[in-house]
Amino acid sequence: MRTPETPATLQTQSYVLALIPGWPIPRVARVLHRDNDRLAVEFCDSSAPSRMTVHASTVTYVPASLAERLLAPISQRPSSTRRPTSTGAEAWLGMRIPVLDAGWVCLLDYAGTDEGIADAARTSYGERASSGADNRRLIRYLRRHGHTGPFEMVGTKWHVRLPIFVARQWVRHRTASLNEQSGRYSVLTDDAYVPPAPTIASQVAVKQGRDAPLPPAVQSEAAALIARAATDAHQAYQRLLSLGVARETARLVLPVNTYTQWVWKIDLHNLFHFLRLRLASDAQAEIRAYAEAVAQIVRCAWPVAWEAFDDYVRGAVSLAAPEVGCLQRAPMRPEEAQQDALRQSADLMGPRERAEFLGKLARLGLLDAVNMEVP
Ligand SMILES: Cc1cc2nc3c(=O)[nH]c(=O)nc-3n(C[C@H](O)[C@H](O)[C@H](O)COP(=O)(O)OP(=O)(O)OC[C@H]3O[C@@H](n4cnc5c(N)ncnc54)[C@H](O)[C@@H]3O)c2cc1C
Repeated sequence: MRTPETPATLQTQSYVLALIPGWPIPRVARVLHRDNDRLAVEFCDSSAPSRMTVHASTVTYVPASLAERLLAPISQRPSSTRRPTSTGAEAWLGMRIPVLDAGWVCLLDYAGTDEGIADAARTSYGERASSGADNRRLIRYLRRHGHTGPFEMVGTKWHVRLPIFVARQWVRHRTASLNEQSGRYSVLTDDAYVPPAPTIASQVAVKQGRDAPLPPAVQSEAAALIARAATDAHQAYQRLLSLGVARETARLVLPVNTYTQWVWKIDLHNLFHFLRLRLASDAQAEIRAYAEAVAQIVRCAWPVAWEAFDDYVRGAVSLAAPEVGCLQRAPMRPEEAQQDALRQSADLMGPRERAEFLGKLARLGLLDAVNMEVP
């Protein structure tokens, strides 16, 4: 069991999981020295860098027994479970990624791995056994063809602390289960999100979103106004509580930037749908920051499924029928460029995927004939 030690109580010699920039998964480190919120840590693996100073909010305490398990080569780790596990997910479990000024995202639990997705798909033809590299090909095929059932076999459970206005957007994703902190049972803290002044921008002319940044003096005044409104509202909340008003009524004065928290459970298929919508540039920056933290973990925990999602959903361009019509009428590309594209496609894609690609080019009128002879 993980001790609920907080960054504030971390001692010298404690083991921590540290999240460092440019490193995909957290690294096990030992605290050498503490100076308020700055921790000098020494990493326990042999990769460089070996020492670093990190902020206390970016580390999670782990008991020595767990640190030793994480450091042992996978083949030598004593396994306390017969369930299939993902190394990336195991490294992230219980680790809070800070988001905004007082929020976080934390993978609490999961069930299922990349291999499990492929195995579930093989059930379609009465087979069950995984076969290494074939899994990647199969998972990419599933994603390309919208065969999403196998991705639903992976379950994920998250602990998220977020401002109420982000929660309002998040909760629109209905294919999930959640349990939120109750303002009827608990007294809410005075944490309220205040955007950094330089990010405060003007209203776009039409519809949702932000336009150009405002002048610095306006940004500072706006940030101060938001902070003051939150402080005043929380003081009114405390006063109502002290008058004996029920918590469920006192909370009515709190603004939508007050932090709440919840446990959120969603399968990997619907999580990718959430990420597609909330990582997009038209999503509000604050929920996008949460989606990026979730994506950081998903990328490590289900790397093959993530790669397929990134290639075929997030990075894909779908063409509507009128667009296809326009492209079909566009002038043909010069011969050499066609040949170049064909050569590149042979390097970048497997035979089946390449055949599909050539089919798309032919449909767009960008190829004279479909070359089905794949190297
Ligand atoms: C940029 C942006 C702006 C938005 N603006 C607004 C806004 O102004 N106001 C607003 O209310 N929402 C807004 N939304 C929320 C949006 O309309 C969706 O509700 C939200 O993104 C969740 O998407 P979803 O319904 O596909 O996901 P989920 O609720 O997770 O559903 C996943 C899929 O399940 C199916 N499904 C789920 N429930 C039903 C159902 N009852 N009937 C039929 N099929 C169902 C659909 O195929 C759906 O795509 C916005 C979202 C984005 C990304």
